[in-house]
Amino acid sequence: MINLKILCSGTPTPSDVRWGSAYALKMGAEWFMFDCGPAATYKLIKSKISPLDISNLFFTHHHSDHDADYACFLLTRFDQSIGKEKELNVYGPPPTKELTDKLIGENDGAYWHDFVARTKHPLSLWAYQERGGKLPRPIPKVNSYNINPGIVSSGKDWEITSARVEHVQPYLDSLAYRVDYSEGSIVFSGDTKPCQALIDLSANADVLVMECIRLENEMKNNATSLSETSALQAGKMAEEANVKLLVLTHQAHYLDSVKDDVLKEVKTNYKGGVIWADELMTVNF
Ligand SMILES: [Zn+2]
Repeated sequence: MINLKILCSGTPTPSDVRWGSAYALKMGAEWFMFDCGPAATYKLIKSKISPLDISNLFFTHHHSDHDADYACFLLTRFDQSIGKEKELNVYGPPPTKELTDKLIGENDGAYWHDFVARTKHPLSLWAYQERGGKLPRPIPKVNSYNINPGIVSSGKDWEITSARVEHVQPYLDSLAYRVDYSEGSIVFSGDTKPCQALIDLSANADVLVMECIRLENEMKNNATSLSETSALQAGKMAEEANVKLLVLTHQAHYLDSVKDDVLKEVKTNYKGGVIWADELMTVNF
């Protein structure tokens, strides 16, 4: 079984029910994380998932609604470490590596002082030992990679593949991810306008976690249609890709008030199952 945890299911506009983008995925005993939008670390904790449980993080792109909690995630993971957790691997389009170096790079990183203080001051060393750590306290290793479309990472019974989707190029590159596991498959669209690359990546997947930002008629004759996907188009893409279950996410903040209209529009073209993503919801498949 695969567990999908919806952490953040909104846009850059904060609301009391959704904000930004982030998902956790459990395969076997391992948790994987996709995007790290606002308050993602807090929502992990609310979901009873420790940042230490996550050793692979994938960014779809670097709009702030997808990465604004990255520093919090890295520093909480470090603060709570006992020196026995796995190294963290972080993948994404540029500037994934540059952002990581700017945050925690040795000497020059914006938060390097926190690493120094917590590995040297007796207060932090005491807390580290209280949690079960053994001195000397190491600075955890984070491996960050700027990646291109193709196979990103694989394990004993899983493989993760990326495809380039179309959002706000040339300013930011954008990737969608497909996870193939021995017990199922899931695709994360990231932010994109409807595109063939996403349909191809999603072919016959069990689940497609798809941006669905507005109703179709709100996107006509304005710039949103050049970068985002409407409810109508989300349904069309899911049908063309023949996915079994469509999880609608990245909803504009007011969209909950017209949820029935959105679902109707999605179902105009799509015959499979539909789930309206709410934060802290679990989807098992
Ligand atoms: Zn976004």
